[in-house]
Amino acid sequence: MSDRTTPSPSNSAQTRHRIPFGSPPYRLPRGALPACQGEDPELFFPSAGYEKRQEQVARAKRICARCLCNRDCLRLALHNDEPVGIWGGCTTTERRVLRNDIRSLRREPHPALRSLERGETVPVDPFDLLGVVHRLTVRGLTMPWLCKVLNLTPETVLRLQIRGARAAALVESEQREAREAT
Ligand code: SF4
Repeated sequence: MSDRTTPSPSNSAQTRHRIPFGSPPYRLPRGALPACQGEDPELFFPSAGYEKRQEQVARAKRICARCLCNRDCLRLALHNDEPVGIWGGCTTTERRVLRNDIRSLRREPHPALRSLERGETVPVDPFDLLGVVHRLTVRGLTMPWLCKVLNLTPETVLRLQIRGARAAALVESEQREAREAT
């Protein structure tokens, strides 16, 4: 186990928790250190009070953004269902959304995909929307096409595309590592 430390959800924000970055499937790039090492753990467990909290979240996210362990940290938090704190640059709410997005991508392809590809307007359950937008985007359908067949604004489609790409990157890295391990 690595002796590298990172902030941890605990009763005391000063308590540090060791992430087993050295053990599969969460591997730290050779020579990399978590960017939060040496930072105030409280930043990653923002306190109450809207303004102070917003400032802490923004600072923690900036640190996570330059961390080489970012993706593994996020995967670990998702895997452990961490209830609080900033992990891999994501808040608890963002991780909840991401978890649902990953589930959406893992579901069977939506039966209406072919009709939508042909340009037919078919109602899609909001629950399935992210998976549908992602699959149609990967198949090369353009923004105006997606807006038309799904009856969505470009802003909504773009938001779903960004979320879909992020969730897909995590799913793909897990699948790649599973293949490498066999
Ligand atoms: S992603 Fe953020 S919380 Fe995770 S190890 Fe890196 S700096 Fe620390």
